[in-house]
Amino acid sequence: MNGKKLPEKAFVNIKSPRYRADSLLIELSKNRPDSIGFILGITSKDISTTKRGLDGNIKKPKSKYTDWGVFGLGYKSGTSCIISTFRLKNVKTDLFISRVQKISVHEIGHNLGLDHCETEKCVMQDAVETISTVDSEGFKLCEKCYRKI
Ligand SMILES: [Zn+2]
Ligand SMILES: [Zn+2]
Repeated sequence: MNGKKLPEKAFVNIKSPRYRADSLLIELSKNRPDSIGFILGITSKDISTTKRGLDGNIKKPKSKYTDWGVFGLGYKSGTSCIISTFRLKNVKTDLFISRVQKISVHEIGHNLGLDHCETEKCVMQDAVETISTVDSEGFKLCEKCYRKI
């Protein structure tokens, strides 16, 4: 966020101190200059969202998923996405950088209208709550995803 402080209204302390990724996306979109299509925010603070099932209800157990820590968030066909380095720390620099790159491409992919993809190595694979998925992904979209954008 250009070295900006995160907005206090996005701050929650439900399980631990975090900033709601959903609120940060709204702030980012608001501050997006008309001349650029998408805006990507990067923060070192922990960020979270509410994880919902396909029926729209909060995933169970609710206590776990109401404020769920994430690596990044980007809405499908949105104009902003955010990634957090909070859960990526304590690894060698090259691994850290590759994680940041993959998560950024993934969230921008959502902004460009892509859903999660089942194809092995595709950067749009769902991380399914673990960083090891991110590490096994490639940097690129699979051919199927590529054709969609
Ligand atoms: Zn995703
Ligand atoms: Zn794909």
